[in-house]
Amino acid sequence: MFKIALNAGHGLNTAGKRCLKSIDPNETREWVLNSRIAEKITENLKEYSGYELLRIDDPTGKTDIALKTRTDKANKWGADFYLAVHHNAGIGGGAGGGIVAFTYTSVDGETKDWQKSLYDSLIKYTGLKGNRSVPLAEADFHECRETKMPAVLLECGFMDSTADTPVILTEQFADKCAAAITEVIVKKGGLTKKTAGQKPAVPDKQPDGKISIIYQVWDSVQKRWLPDVKDLTDYAGLYGHALCAVYARLTSGNIFYRVHYTGGGWLPEVKNREDYAGLYGKNIDGLMMRTDTGRKIKYALHIKDGDWLPYVSGYDEKDPENGYAGILGKEADAVRIYIE
Ligand SMILES: [Zn+2]
Repeated sequence: MFKIALNAGHGLNTAGKRCLKSIDPNETREWVLNSRIAEKITENLKEYSGYELLRIDDPTGKTDIALKTRTDKANKWGADFYLAVHHNAGIGGGAGGGIVAFTYTSVDGETKDWQKSLYDSLIKYTGLKGNRSVPLAEADFHECRETKMPAVLLECGFMDSTADTPVILTEQFADKCAAAITEVIVKKGGLTKKTAGQKPAVPDKQPDGKISIIYQVWDSVQKRWLPDVKDLTDYAGLYGHALCAVYARLTSGNIFYRVHYTGGGWLPEVKNREDYAGLYGKNIDGLMMRTDTGRKIKYALHIKDGDWLPYVSGYDEKDPENGYAGILGKEADAVRIYIE
């Protein structure tokens, strides 16, 4: 029986632990975000056998259980793995960020393997890699130091970053974090699936075979990522605000894309959310997209102070008709995309 000690960092009313008001007017509490992921992990694991799970924080959030109480509980119980879920801060409203995974400063290879597996899986699922992302970070944290089993403390993005905060607030992000963490626990803990072919590991995979695209853009005026858009439910962008960067992913398969910026050239191709396409401060006038799904991708740009251009589906910088969206030299302010 593989024993997992799981906890959401802090409590609902822990002072200071919340999202930055200028980015999130609700000032969402860190515990809420931490607990949402912990609950989703707990739920995901119910499809497996071969483990026991002990939640060592207060699942109602009312009490911020002392760190010593948490680690004492896990040690006494004889946990095989200890996981603390947190969200980070320290950017002060800037645009940096990313996921960080911590262990204590001196740990064994097994702990490092947990850490690396979790970090890699989280990046794979969420793409939330930023300038503060550290895969093998070490710190003298109580929970990592005072635990007798492999212990990892995850910081699932920053609560005061214009890049991370809008993302980490979404239910979808929590789903992806939980799926990423569940996958590692299942694999490393040797858990077995109770019944085959039930709920898919990726929660937003659609049963009818439809592939969706989820995308967002960086607004050069507000200097922030605008919310995710799915297919044609909306367009990404704000009319009159030039775009500097694009992020996109599919619910199934891989997407590859490049952008061209005004007065410059085509930037390197990026894949899924491993990176964004674009350069901060450089306005986009061309976009090229392709997928490996075998389906046709249709995408269009809206010209700033102009109109929507026709959808294109090709991927060829030498083909201004159908090889890319946009008119080079004319800044774009919105994009819409779908998969046929
Ligand atoms: Zn925290």
